[in-house]
Amino acid sequence: MFDFIKSVWYEFLSNFVPEKLSYEITGECKKCGKCCNYMYSIDTYTEKEFRIMQFLFPAYKRFYIKGKDEDGNLIFACKMVTKDGLCSDYKHRLRMCKNYPAKRISYPGRLHDGCGYRVEEKHFEDYLKKD
Ligand code: SF4
Ligand code: SF4
Repeated sequence: MFDFIKSVWYEFLSNFVPEKLSYEITGECKKCGKCCNYMYSIDTYTEKEFRIMQFLFPAYKRFYIKGKDEDGNLIFACKMVTKDGLCSDYKHRLRMCKNYPAKRISYPGRLHDGCGYRVEEKHFEDYLKKD
């Protein structure tokens, strides 16, 4: 029960992250499917927390735990991705899928090797340069 309350509390707090990173995104998707087959979560560290997340957000039931990396972090994948790397539920894909790669995030992120997109971190000076 305590884990459940903790997860809900952290989920609530995540809406008030004071600093976010902005990226300039260029390029385009090559439809390799890597981002649907290999994902990390910033706030789900255990299988129990993942089950709680799925309870809170039933849309996440399409995801499953694929394994762990060498540091013990959970790796997730989506049940909807086809063998060809395409989305079998494209019309109803989640907002996070539509927004990927996000231009503004609250933690440092990295794209998969070979991804068709490129990201460049934007700094305060970059905004000053804009006309
Ligand atoms: S990893 Fe990049 S190129 Fe591959 S499917 Fe995802 S967004 Fe597209
Ligand atoms: S819903 Fe579609 S786009 Fe989103 S992770 Fe699953 S396969 Fe990828």
